[in-house]
Amino acid sequence: MTKRNNRKRETLAERDKRIREMAALGGSPAIFTEEVSEAEIAKVKREALVKLAESGAILTDDQRYLAHAVNREMNARANLDLVTDLMVKHWFDNNGSLMAKLRKEAFAYRSMLARALRDQGRLDEAVAVLPECAEKLEVGRAAIERDDDWECDCADPVLPVYNDAGQQIGSKEVSRWQIRKRIVTEKHGRSVYFLQCSECLEHNARPDLPEKLAKPIALGTEPALIRHA
Ligand SMILES: [Zn+2]
Repeated sequence: MTKRNNRKRETLAERDKRIREMAALGGSPAIFTEEVSEAEIAKVKREALVKLAESGAILTDDQRYLAHAVNREMNARANLDLVTDLMVKHWFDNNGSLMAKLRKEAFAYRSMLARALRDQGRLDEAVAVLPECAEKLEVGRAAIERDDDWECDCADPVLPVYNDAGQQIGSKEVSRWQIRKRIVTEKHGRSVYFLQCSECLEHNARPDLPEKLAKPIALGTEPALIRHA
C-alpha cells in the first residue's frame, strides 16, 4: 500500500477525475467554481458532450454539430502533441528533412485545430493556435459581430429560367448569399450560417437564412421544383 505523506496533494489526473465527477453531478456549486476556472468547467462540459454524442443519445442539431467540432479539436490536439514530442526528440539530430516534414505536419494539425476552434466560435483561441491566419479569422469575427439582418448593398442576381425543352420561359431573382459553413458562436449561443455575398464577397453570420436562399433549399435543388416555387 502506498503511503501518502500529504493527503491534500493530489496528482493532476486525480484532480481531473474529481472535477469530472463534480461536473457530472450537474450545476456549479460555489466550492466548485471557486477552485475551478470557468474555462475548465467549459472544457469538461465540451468533453461530456462528445461522450454523449458517442453514446448515441438524441441530441439537437446544434449539439451534434458542436460535439463534432469538439471531437475534431481533441483529435487535432492529440496529433499535435505527438508531432511536437517528435520535434523535441529530434531537435538536435541535425536532420533537416525530418524537421521540415514534422513542421509541415504540425502546421496541418494546427490548421485542423484552428478550424475546430473556429467552428465552436472560439476565435481568440483559433488565432492563438494559428496566428498566420489571424486576418482570415478576423473576417469571421466581423461577420459574427454584424447585425444578423445586415445586408450588403448588392442586388440579387437574375437568372434565366428554362423549360424542359431548353427554351427560356422567364427569369428568376436568386439570393446573392451563399452558405459557406455553419459555426457555433458565443454571441448567438447556437449554430449560425456563415454566409458570403457572391457579388461583393462580404460575410455575415446569422441563425436563419435570407428568404430567397431558404426557399430553394427547402424545396431541394431540383430545378423543376424551384421553377414552380
Ligand atoms: Zn454584396
